[in-house]
Amino acid sequence: MAGRPVNPPSDGWSLTVPPRLWDALSSHLFLDGEEHGAVVLAGQAEGARGPRLLARELLIAREGEDYVAGEIGHRALSPAFVRDAIVRAREERLAYLAVHCHPGRGQVRFSRVDLASHERGYPALRQISGQTVGGLVFTPDAAAGDLWLSGGDRVRLGEVVIPSGNLLRLRPSPASPAIADPLWDRQARLLGDRGQEALSRMRVAVVGLGGVGSILVEELSRLGVGELVLVDDEAVDATNLPRLIAAERADVGQPKTRVAARNAARANPHVRLITVPRRVEQREALRELTLSDWIFLAADSHAARHWVNAVVQEYLIPATQVGVKIPVTQGGEIGQIHTATRLITPGIGCFWCNRLIDRTELAVEMLPAEEREHARYVAGVPAPSVLPLNTLAVGEALTHFLLATAMLHQDDRDLGSVIHRPRSRERHLQDARQENSCRWCTAAGSLGRGDHGEVAMRVASA
Ligand SMILES: [Zn+2]
Ligand SMILES: [Zn+2]
Repeated sequence: MAGRPVNPPSDGWSLTVPPRLWDALSSHLFLDGEEHGAVVLAGQAEGARGPRLLARELLIAREGEDYVAGEIGHRALSPAFVRDAIVRAREERLAYLAVHCHPGRGQVRFSRVDLASHERGYPALRQISGQTVGGLVFTPDAAAGDLWLSGGDRVRLGEVVIPSGNLLRLRPSPASPAIADPLWDRQARLLGDRGQEALSRMRVAVVGLGGVGSILVEELSRLGVGELVLVDDEAVDATNLPRLIAAERADVGQPKTRVAARNAARANPHVRLITVPRRVEQREALRELTLSDWIFLAADSHAARHWVNAVVQEYLIPATQVGVKIPVTQGGEIGQIHTATRLITPGIGCFWCNRLIDRTELAVEMLPAEEREHARYVAGVPAPSVLPLNTLAVGEALTHFLLATAMLHQDDRDLGSVIHRPRSRERHLQDARQENSCRWCTAAGSLGRGDHGEVAMRVASA
């Protein structure tokens, strides 16, 4: 059964901003050193460490027209701009967040004038929209927020998270230096104590605990990730043993989640573990994914791709697909082997845009187990699988994850997939495509829908 950790850490409220929206907002705010304004409309969801706002839409306030000199000498959003935005927030059931910038770097706080204007304006705006409203103030590397919750409370925003090539976290002031644990000394020399601490606060889901997933679990545990969600509905088969890291002969017949949890605890006794012996499309598994900070997809089914993709887009959670393909012709000839480490970043193209989900296969996989094999024209043949290719793909995936978490990537915008073709010793980068009208990865679709999206509906269904 799904087990839950005893004491998940709590950080309070956060706002997650998809990278493209952050690019547009930050280039507007920090254009010329002057103060500028905007409104962000945001969905909402529960998170592992507290409630999460999910930025969905950006309404830029035009200088001199929507962002004007206020009555008491500071600049403010015009009444007409606020009215249009709050009506939209009410209709779409989204939080209304008025945004502006302050000069400086490193830390930020509201001025007395800012707070007085919140107190004058937000009670009425909250009443009109029936949703959470609030103010956000940014410098390029810090953010603070004053939220007036729909339920009546007023709370501070803990952090703004931007899942770009680096996992950016903006807070009112830099997080206090972590207490360094000598255990992580060699690793912290690369990641920094803050990077190591960031890892220890991560809740990472691994979907699929076969050859690829078992290596992911072993390494994530040893790296010091705080919490792991282990999702797989299968039991260990004797033919898995050569590729299942740390598995033993006696594990044959055991649930893969149980074996993975045992190995993770051996690798790091402090890791918190949640096991979900279910298919990923089942509601218990989906719910755990929505509460994660990062998802590794190591299950090669179209249903897994579809639902992980849906969680990424609706909940703004980054994911990495790790796959190995060894094509074999009917005559037994080996084709071009490739490994793919694919970043699935909220709002930057998705599995549907990149034609990585087959509608027919998806429909078959969503059938009940007893009907699934009948629906297939050709029975499934086991694909070849070898440990070093799995290790190659996992190495790419975890190196990216590690550098992103510690904010060590040189370029935040580098979100390409890495494809290895070992037979010809090639390594390629491939950017994701995006279709303008995609119903999953665009604001016109379900990007940032959170509690009002399709995943939430499936989780809530009996
Ligand atoms: Zn201000
Ligand atoms: Zn898409």
